[in-house]
Amino acid sequence: MAKVLIVGAGPAGLFAAQKLADSCDVTIIEQKSYIGGAGLYSDGKMNFHPQIGGNLLEFLSEENAFKILEEIKQTFKECGMKEVENDWEKLIELERRATTAGIKFIPIRQNHVGSDYLPKVMNNFKTNLEKKGVKFKLNTKVLDLDSKNGKIIVKTDKGNEEANYIILAPGRVGSLWLIEMAKKLGLGMRFSPVDIGVRVEVLNDVMKEIIHDYQCWDPKFHIRTQHYDDDVRTFCVCPYGFVVKEFYEEDIFGVNGHSMKDKKSNNCNFALLIRTELTQPLENTTEYGRSIARQTNTLGGSKPIIQRVRDLRMSRRSTWERIGKSYVEPTLKDVTPGDISMAYPYRIVINVLEALDKLEKVIPGVGSDSTLLYAPEIKFYSMRIETNKILQTAIPNIFVAGDGAGVSRGITIAAATGMIAANGIKNLIK
Ligand SMILES: Cc1cc2nc3c(=O)[nH]c(=O)nc-3n(C[C@H](O)[C@H](O)[C@H](O)COP(=O)(O)OP(=O)(O)OC[C@H]3O[C@@H](n4cnc5c(N)ncnc54)[C@H](O)[C@@H]3O)c2cc1C
Repeated sequence: MAKVLIVGAGPAGLFAAQKLADSCDVTIIEQKSYIGGAGLYSDGKMNFHPQIGGNLLEFLSEENAFKILEEIKQTFKECGMKEVENDWEKLIELERRATTAGIKFIPIRQNHVGSDYLPKVMNNFKTNLEKKGVKFKLNTKVLDLDSKNGKIIVKTDKGNEEANYIILAPGRVGSLWLIEMAKKLGLGMRFSPVDIGVRVEVLNDVMKEIIHDYQCWDPKFHIRTQHYDDDVRTFCVCPYGFVVKEFYEEDIFGVNGHSMKDKKSNNCNFALLIRTELTQPLENTTEYGRSIARQTNTLGGSKPIIQRVRDLRMSRRSTWERIGKSYVEPTLKDVTPGDISMAYPYRIVINVLEALDKLEKVIPGVGSDSTLLYAPEIKFYSMRIETNKILQTAIPNIFVAGDGAGVSRGITIAAATGMIAANGIKNLIK
């Protein structure tokens, strides 16, 4: 029986193990004492769409992508996730409404596990995998790997392992380690895009119709802007939520948003993001994103910048007095009222303003003078390891999956890439 090692017990590693369990000897190596990866620390918003949280269509036909997502949903249900019935007719109605406003709305089957339920679901998953013969080596960090004469040799902090195949699924936390390994093994890599934008905060009432009447908890709108023909998208909608400061690196920070179960605010926040890819002479999107974040941090006097939409439109900075005139009371107070256009590229600022103007036609009030914007909000992604369509690298028995390899950015797509890599191995050993 072929022996397969999987590095990382996040969604990518776990779903890969499930696929391989019936035909291979599978061991998952995880540096932490528990499974679930970054997914376990989220509130588990699951998007069952091939192009949300990554792009499965790079690897699969649309039909097969939806099939694999359905399999993932069934597994989560078997492990205790309650399925939420989305009102599909309502979502299609919202899609029509958005279309007439010149906006693309992506109707998605979404599910929300909740941070309190997720550990239970993950533990049930582990038990099911163990019953199928999958072995877990927890508290074990993979330090190094090599491929010699068709064998994989792995060095961990608990000793060496050998296998016929390996799937590297170390997530964002392991992405630097993965880059190091890829360099050592001579695997190709390229920069992933960076998403640059702002966090928008409005009163809950503004989003109520979309979230409650249309039962769309995390609406995905894509707005093509007039001036630059760029795509601006809504991301991570947090009803009754809070804007929070988030460190990207030790000395660079931005903002993020979250909703809590017990503590609720009067506001709803979400990100408006613009995907940025660079070619010549600078490909390094991470450095570009970093430099924008740094500049914004400096201008804000080491605090995030907050600005009222009215002030941004009037080409003037916000002050606490002007913020006080907004109907929206900021949920993040440790901020500096300022001028985002002093810190951000013109292109991003114009894109944000045009997106808000267009979105106003579908969500009345979202682009009002009172709306608050926070910056920087930047989403960095891992380097993309070069693979073929079955996620096999240039070394035939080394496969990659998940966020760490730059092929996903969410739970369901990470899981799906794990399954694609596993299917690839299964086909090779047939
Ligand atoms: C705060 C937060 C909230 C989020 N919310 C959502 C959400 O609501 N919905 C959504 O779809 N996505 C969400 N995400 C993203 C989602 O969690 C990830 O996309 C997903 O977990 C990626 O899965 P993965 O298996 O690729 O990596 P991970 O889940 O990161 O798992 C990788 C695992 O590999 C282990 N590992 C790394 N290096 C090594 C090594 N050298 N040796 C051994 N083990 C190693 C790590 O410890 C980790 O357990 C959120 C992420 C965060 C951080």
